[in-house]
Amino acid sequence: MSHERRGRGVVCRGLAASVDLRLLRSAGRERRCDAHPTIRLIQHQQPMKILLSNDDGFQAPGIVALYEALKTLADVEVVAPEHNNSAKSNALTLHSPLYVHQAANGFRYVNGTPADCVHIALTGLLGYRPDLVVSGINNGANMGDDTIYSGTVGAAMEGYLFGIPAIAFSQVDKGWGEIESAAAKAREIVQQLMGNRLENPAVSSDAAPWLLNVNIPNMPLEALKPLKLCRLGRRHAAERVIVQDSPRGEKMYWIGGAGAAKDDAEGTDFHATAQGHVSMTPLKVDLTDHDNLGYWAQTAARMQASVTVEGVR
Ligand code: MN
Repeated sequence: MSHERRGRGVVCRGLAASVDLRLLRSAGRERRCDAHPTIRLIQHQQPMKILLSNDDGFQAPGIVALYEALKTLADVEVVAPEHNNSAKSNALTLHSPLYVHQAANGFRYVNGTPADCVHIALTGLLGYRPDLVVSGINNGANMGDDTIYSGTVGAAMEGYLFGIPAIAFSQVDKGWGEIESAAAKAREIVQQLMGNRLENPAVSSDAAPWLLNVNIPNMPLEALKPLKLCRLGRRHAAERVIVQDSPRGEKMYWIGGAGAAKDDAEGTDFHATAQGHVSMTPLKVDLTDHDNLGYWAQTAARMQASVTVEGVR
């Protein structure tokens, strides 16, 4: 078996696929891995480190279930919002101080947004660079246009922007039905991806990071259909704003619900999850409209020409 130095630890090629990643924990920890001869080789490797956040708040059943599942794979630290921060996207809090407190279960919580939590964690709170940022499991789908608004995706994206691989997990339906199943599926996906990372340097955290958006139908584990790689679908525009009278005679406006699926064709996340599959979509952050750069180049040239002509007059 060959092994080579890669980043902090020694990567043993050909081993990760056959060995449960929990065995990658260091020998000095509670897990005993001295029984198996091949394991001794990797005893000195750092355990995988995961930063876990969400947007539903540190007490949400989704993050508790995901923590319990992932802690058997890696060292997991939770830094999550104190309260529900759904639809906060990538927002950062710039005009008020942020406080970090620790709950009895060890989770740290912040009076800020999901992106605040990951930002603080990565820029000083943790004191080390995690191998993976995980967000979720969210209470409800984040498919299609939801990904623009989603605080769950925002937390993962903050890790990605810092160059760290990141995954956002959401359950398709609200209400936490089958949350244990979703957590087990999320654990499986993390294990497969990070095992792959150990075996394939091209997807290691030292190379370009990646950002994945995963939606899991609320079904028992054995009923879930296999993972499907999807593109994002699209939603119709959101429903109308809801107007009410406040007790003090002012108008109050409530943002309406998300629109129904508009593009849920085969290949989309909407389609795959409706069929009972787990959907996985790789995301990127570059908002440039690459398809229309040619059109805009011509338009920009005309705009520049007309400015020059007017400047000459
Ligand atoms: Mn949420």
